[in-house]
Amino acid sequence: MNRTIICLVSVLFSPLWSHAQPDQATQQLAHDVFKQLIEINTTDSVGNVTTAAEAMAQRFRDAGFADSDLQIIGPNDRKKNLVLRYRGTGRHKPILLIGHLDVVEARREDWTTDPFQFVEKDGYYYGRGTQDMKCGDAIWVADLIRMKKEAYQPDRDIILALTADEEGGKSNGVDWLIKTHRDLVAAEFVLNSDGGGVNTVHGKPESMSVDATEKLYSDYQLTVTNRGGHSSQPVPDNAIYHLAEALTRLERYEFPIDLNHVTRAYYERMSTILSGPRAADMKAILKNPPDQAAAARLSQDPIDHSVMRTTCVATRLDAGHANNALPQRAQANVNCRIAPGHSSEEIRQALIKIFDDPKVTVRYSSDAGEISDTAPDRHSFPPPPLRPDVFQPLEKIVQEMWPGTPVIPTMATGASDSVYTNAAGMPSYQISGVAIDRDDHREHGKDERLGVASYDLGLDFYYRYLKAVTSQP
Ligand SMILES: [Zn+2]
Repeated sequence: MNRTIICLVSVLFSPLWSHAQPDQATQQLAHDVFKQLIEINTTDSVGNVTTAAEAMAQRFRDAGFADSDLQIIGPNDRKKNLVLRYRGTGRHKPILLIGHLDVVEARREDWTTDPFQFVEKDGYYYGRGTQDMKCGDAIWVADLIRMKKEAYQPDRDIILALTADEEGGKSNGVDWLIKTHRDLVAAEFVLNSDGGGVNTVHGKPESMSVDATEKLYSDYQLTVTNRGGHSSQPVPDNAIYHLAEALTRLERYEFPIDLNHVTRAYYERMSTILSGPRAADMKAILKNPPDQAAAARLSQDPIDHSVMRTTCVATRLDAGHANNALPQRAQANVNCRIAPGHSSEEIRQALIKIFDDPKVTVRYSSDAGEISDTAPDRHSFPPPPLRPDVFQPLEKIVQEMWPGTPVIPTMATGASDSVYTNAAGMPSYQISGVAIDRDDHREHGKDERLGVASYDLGLDFYYRYLKAVTSQP
């Protein structure tokens, strides 16, 4: 009821603004699609991504999309992906939108509400996937249906892929589609709404970040073995001490500053937005060579520390077999987040040098937990260029919707499905119009939620942005 009154007022007093607002029907549709997606369990353990893909396909069919432009395909019954093609004039090459339908596990007893019920409470939508990332999926579905109803014709095809197993599992949809149906998803560039977005503090927008590159994830297994013996007669050669010393060397080691054009652009922008010593330090690390004292000061912030370089840290430890025996085996896991341009094997070699102890073997541990003597030579992809046909329309719409809010290219310190599309040579950008307060990030956590107003703005944002990137000179 309130929303109707606000819309009416805006129609009367602000015709320009109201013109771009989603109509009541789109808002209702977006709400219903969001609710439907949240209430279809798409976890790896007991969920079904195919059910969600089929439900969205039905929505598109009902809106008049041709059956031949809708595919539901995947490697097994539970993990099928939806690929939709919204036909354009073909003036430019297609763009691809990727969004994952699967969600992280959530247990009812951990939550205040049922994570697989769409609960509307105190201005928020609650449920698993409200932030990560069924909001983005539902927004695209509703916006594309709205555009179809208007008979909008884009100047290029818009391909939407709603996919499985981003959060884990063995059937990653984006990877599978690229390997088996490349022609179906081939595009000039990719938009992924699994990252980026409007950063707010108490609802006030501070910046819009666009994740334009990511680090590469790698685990390494460290092992020291020893013949052991009775603990009443210790000897200097001890597996635990070897391992502990190696880890202490890692603790003291700092990978060199390693900026790329995305992180450079990030610090350039941030240094003009901020002021004081932090801004000065940001400017100083952009110098060639970077100012080491400034880098050390910035590194006290864990985010800056990670953005500036590769990081490796001990995350697990396991050693010994009895209280009264010398250890025969000591093991640790070291988790690395590798800066773009380096391979897992390159970092394995770097670790061997850092440990500087032939007793410590360093092996690669794959995502599936398989251990191998060497690591893949696969490099994290170099950051794609900050394309004007992506960023110019973005800047324009951000200034319309959140005046004065800067657009900031960022490097995600985690990883997303963009790793597959970038590796396939399609430059990928994580862009979202959804706003989340700095201290309200609940992805993968309990009581995940998204503000109702934030969702509506995100809906309006992508409607405008999709039109802008599909109507360019
Ligand atoms: Zn996600």
